[in-house]
Amino acid sequence: MHISGYMLVDATQQMDQRTSQMVYLFFAEALRHRQALISLIDQESIMGLTGIQIFKMLPKTNCGECGVPTCLAFAMNLASGKAELDACPYVSDEAREKLAEASAPPIRPVAIGAGDRAFKVGGETVMYRHEKTFYNPTALAALIASDIDAGDLDKKLKEWNAFQYERVGLNLRPELVALKDVNGDASSFAAAAKKIAEESEFGLVLMSDNVDVLKAGVDVSAFKKPLLYAATADNADDMGNLAKEKGLPLAVKADDIDGLIALSDKLTGMGLKDLVLDSGSREIKQLFEDQVAIRRAPLKAGNRSLGFPTITFPCEMASNLDVETMLSSLLIAKYAGIVVLSDFKGENLFPLLLERLNIYTDPQRPMTVTEGIYEIGAPDENSPVLVTTNFSLTYFIVSGEIEGSRIPSWLLIMDTEGLSVMTAWAAGKFAGDAVAMFVKKCGIVDKVAHKQIIIPGYAASISGEMEEDLPDWQITIGPRDASLIPKFLKDLAA
Ligand code: SF4
Repeated sequence: MHISGYMLVDATQQMDQRTSQMVYLFFAEALRHRQALISLIDQESIMGLTGIQIFKMLPKTNCGECGVPTCLAFAMNLASGKAELDACPYVSDEAREKLAEASAPPIRPVAIGAGDRAFKVGGETVMYRHEKTFYNPTALAALIASDIDAGDLDKKLKEWNAFQYERVGLNLRPELVALKDVNGDASSFAAAAKKIAEESEFGLVLMSDNVDVLKAGVDVSAFKKPLLYAATADNADDMGNLAKEKGLPLAVKADDIDGLIALSDKLTGMGLKDLVLDSGSREIKQLFEDQVAIRRAPLKAGNRSLGFPTITFPCEMASNLDVETMLSSLLIAKYAGIVVLSDFKGENLFPLLLERLNIYTDPQRPMTVTEGIYEIGAPDENSPVLVTTNFSLTYFIVSGEIEGSRIPSWLLIMDTEGLSVMTAWAAGKFAGDAVAMFVKKCGIVDKVAHKQIIIPGYAASISGEMEEDLPDWQITIGPRDASLIPKFLKDLAA
């Protein structure tokens, strides 16, 4: 099918508003898919091969066992990083070898920590977020000196643990404590590592030049999968062996990029896979250049030696936390895997968590909440029932207004692929029959003793169709503007 912008304009000029919106959305979606298809087939993918090149190496039997109906579709999913090669059981050994080599991510994702605050860094595939998305958010760490008094450490951990912020259904919080050996005392280092590992959710960066001190920390905290910091030109063999023996990720520190390449090659030659790079610079201009160079080298020049995430230390670059915070802000944007601060304070941490959320949100997908029945307040069988879409902004605004009304309610969230009410309605994803079907299936009838439902004012036109499909129900049209919900619910209750 050939689709052009002119066809779009011609088609939409001759229709009523709703039909033209639907036609527009259809054609726009078709154009988007066509362009995506062309780019996947014609352009080099994140594997360094085009969709067609990958397709040529597949069996071409279209058996569908990989979860998609054709080998071409599988090739395109492989090219865009949405599928794993192992999903096809029929790839020849030769093709598997070629594809496996090409499909290794240019920047290795490295997993650190265990439990609720475990995370991955690296795994990025683009220089700029608008090209695709960034995947693994920068982890935030705060520094602790190994000679800290046990009581002070308790206090710090408790204080830092309290920094958790709920936003758009997510829990924003830091991930790591960086424990730094300051006196070479293995027992105090191990005691602090044990306390952090066992008594907090935080992951750990264990920092020492002395491999024996580091080993003492590892012995009591290995279950938390700490990052070991750091292998240098002087201790690379010992540090490499310790990380390899314990199966832990290892940071590598050099004085410059050339030194990093040499150390990274040495350690990967020893069989280590999970490395994190520190270029050694503690001056912002040089560090910024290093971060860009380390991101660019694997993505643009295929340099595997630098294909790892980075760790940075604003805590060693400034004399106060405010300046550290500004430096951290820059490093989150460009392209630090881990940022280590000297402390966490709410006023410094919160903006960094929000910046991180913004940068690491996929620009290609609207944020959504899960379809289902949400209780606002403590609703009972007589409480009002409202329905809206699963665009997260819609959910949070509507649920916030209902909460503000202090009238306990049931809020039905219908999956409209993250579209807001108006857009979902125009695209036919919030049509009367679909909403009626959702109301019947979602289970709300088991929770309430009435059959009354409030629909968004912007979707008033679906009420007729809903009445046909839900003949026992009373459909009430709610306000268009969410800010009017409290008054609306209060009037209804009165
Ligand atoms: Fe093709 Fe392999 Fe998928 Fe079968 S499982 S459709 S052979 S890619």
